[in-house]
Amino acid sequence: MRILVLPGDGIGPEISAASLDVLRAADARFGLGLEIEEDITGHASLQKHGTTVHPAMVERARAVDGLVLGPAATFEFKDEAKGEINPSMFFRKTFDLFANIRPARTYPGAPGKVGEFDLIVVRENTEGFYADRNMEQGNGEILVTKDVAISMRRITRHCCARVAHAAFRLAMHRRKHVSIVHKANVLKIGDGMFLEECYKAAKDYPGVRVDEFIVDAMMAHVVRDPAKFDVIVTTNMFGDILSDLTAELSGSLGLAASLNAGESYAMAQAAHGSAPDIAGQNIANPFSLILSAGQLLGWHGERRQLRNFVEAAAAIDNCVAAALASGACTKDMGGALGTRETGAALAQVIAKA
Ligand code: NAD
Repeated sequence: MRILVLPGDGIGPEISAASLDVLRAADARFGLGLEIEEDITGHASLQKHGTTVHPAMVERARAVDGLVLGPAATFEFKDEAKGEINPSMFFRKTFDLFANIRPARTYPGAPGKVGEFDLIVVRENTEGFYADRNMEQGNGEILVTKDVAISMRRITRHCCARVAHAAFRLAMHRRKHVSIVHKANVLKIGDGMFLEECYKAAKDYPGVRVDEFIVDAMMAHVVRDPAKFDVIVTTNMFGDILSDLTAELSGSLGLAASLNAGESYAMAQAAHGSAPDIAGQNIANPFSLILSAGQLLGWHGERRQLRNFVEAAAAIDNCVAAALASGACTKDMGGALGTRETGAALAQVIAKA
């Protein structure tokens, strides 16, 4: 399997280096035959190539089997005409990575914030309120006058249906429960369509229990009793917000793993941002990107029925759990290790798994 790693901005290079240590250890231990390549995106690319997403890198990304993308300083990329393209948006849109799979779970012995739970947020990833990706041409945000702005939200049956099926397929391998999160009480047409498509998809999975929650109330439900959720499916922006909450409730945003999955391509990416407040200090939690890379191996393994990839993914998960239980982690999770040392410790454990 060929993997392209793009470290990104802020803490990106630090957590990517730790993830690479773990990927290489998993490769050696499970005989994965990984071919790992590296390139640049974000500010490093903007400085060198005049664009955050340079064409040669995109060609390499097309040629490999999967991507590991570090967080980018997206808030600083304001003008696409100046090459300031949001890399995250670019890959999700260009490769049609329509399901953003964001697991959040507590780990035995690690400090969760509201009791034990294990859930996955499945977020639609290609449209919704994300105005920079929901138009074929141009942008879904308009400045009507200098004091009037309109941001458009696109919802299509096709995108609702495919993300719903992704959620139900996941639930079939878990506790067979899907919760639909929406705002159809106000967004009656768009979220009404999302609801309709989710219930239509549900008919193909008769063993799966389905319920629904309005997004504002969902915030209270998930803080009150996250253990009652298994797979949560929702539109783009609601999923983005909800999944940061569930990650933090599980212990830290530094545990926020995610996989951006399309039909035949996937991209591992921590759900959090570039964390400029802690960049360069060797204190960022690398588990988010390490677990995301593990998700990528598992996804690839399941699609191609490669047992060693599935085992490697499980080993990464188990090693993170063991590290958290023994306190071999960064300070956001109560440990005393640096980012580098956490990656190295995990790589050592995987080598002996
Ligand atoms: P952020 O997610 O970077 O950080 C929020 C808080 O969580 C900060 O206190 C940070 O220190 C902490 N945190 C995040 N990751 C951590 C980790 N691995 N270990 C320990 N603590 C961690 O959000 P922000 O500060 O609002 O955004 C910073 C930049 O990231 C902005 O430019 C934003 O646009 C961008 N961003 C990028 C992505 C992406 O590339 N996918 C996602 C979200 C935000």
